[in-house]
Amino acid sequence: MLDSNLFHYNGRTLSCDGISLEELADTYGTPLFVTSAKSLADSYREFEHAFADLPHFTCYSVKANFNLSVIKTFAELGCGCDVNSGGELYRALQAGVAPEKIIFAGVGKKPEEITYALKSGVLMLKSESLSELRSINRIADELGTVAAVAIRINPNVTAETHPYITTGDSKEKFGVDEGELPTVFALLPQLSNLRLIGLDMHIGSQIFDPEYYVAATTKLLDIFNAVKDMGFPIEYLDIGGGFPVTYDPRKPATPIERFAEKLIPMLKPAGVKVIFEPGRSLVANASVLLTRILYKKRNHTGKEFFVVDAGMTELIRPALYQAHHEILAVTSHDQSVVADVVGPVCESSDFFARHREIDAAEEGELLAVMSAGAYASVMGSNYNGRLRPAEVLVNGSEVKVIRKRESYEQIIQNELC
Ligand SMILES: *Cc1c(COP(=O)(O)O)cnc(C)c1O
Repeated sequence: MLDSNLFHYNGRTLSCDGISLEELADTYGTPLFVTSAKSLADSYREFEHAFADLPHFTCYSVKANFNLSVIKTFAELGCGCDVNSGGELYRALQAGVAPEKIIFAGVGKKPEEITYALKSGVLMLKSESLSELRSINRIADELGTVAAVAIRINPNVTAETHPYITTGDSKEKFGVDEGELPTVFALLPQLSNLRLIGLDMHIGSQIFDPEYYVAATTKLLDIFNAVKDMGFPIEYLDIGGGFPVTYDPRKPATPIERFAEKLIPMLKPAGVKVIFEPGRSLVANASVLLTRILYKKRNHTGKEFFVVDAGMTELIRPALYQAHHEILAVTSHDQSVVADVVGPVCESSDFFARHREIDAAEEGELLAVMSAGAYASVMGSNYNGRLRPAEVLVNGSEVKVIRKRESYEQIIQNELC
């Protein structure tokens, strides 16, 4: 299983890799993201094990959780990085990732970002349009260099997932449309400061059915075979990320082996290096969001609310994607209640769960919002004047603060009046 969940009850107390979450909340305050270093490493190793028979290079998709310590944990295991902006490139470099292990994606790269990527010496830029290829060519020319590029194909495969996270459908903005490809390949030889070394796709996120990958990879391989005959030196086929995780135990994710057993036989004969860009599947279940119950209240219909000190500003997934997150009481109770778990932000969409059976915890007690490692902290905001929470990394018996809690001074530091 891909979900190396290391959050378990030790007696009545929920713990991370043996360390009590109660103690962590007392020491570091709430809301608090707690990440298990072992869980990160286990997920990466499990991924590598599944694809061991295929010559490949795994690039962690930094956007899922861009904390420097998280990036560094993967980098130290030999993993590369997939970055999506100048800011993510900066983070990856600061975390100590070697530039030749970084690939640069993004549907709208600014000229400054292209310059930064080329000057940094990243492995390749993944381009999503003809105009962008021209722009990369011009900037490479100005810098007196040749840019290694991959072309992101839009394979026109509509993966069944939340509509906001499907990216391989031709009506979405991503990649070069099939119809446009002949023009692109015909023009490429004239762009003399580009070297086409890869073909790329990314069909979406949280995709349970391997058949979507099979369909898209079939298209990618067709294009690869056609392009090879045109003489382009393709060294990499990039399959993207999107592998699923279990958020709800009633809907367990397809194990990564099911993807590997379909993809390896298809890709191995191509004789090139395959790039994977997993994000969510490496980090989602490595973290929880700890939050304290501030108030409990009931409305006239008998509906119960748990008002907690974290909200959509720390974890927007329920509001944005109707996402399910398990919620556990840090100290377990024998009785349960059905309640809405809601945050303090002035929005009705600021909830973690609705009508959820949950342990009958009292005011002042802690809840753990589970699977909070991916697209959680990175999507955080200061809306409502909220301070970004602290984050800690549990590594064996060691606990390290990997992000300090923000202060009031920090949230206005760039403003003038
Ligand atoms: C977001 C993204 C990923 C990672 O997706 P996950 O679903 O988190 O695995 C990989 N590649 C690209 C280009 C992305 O935009």
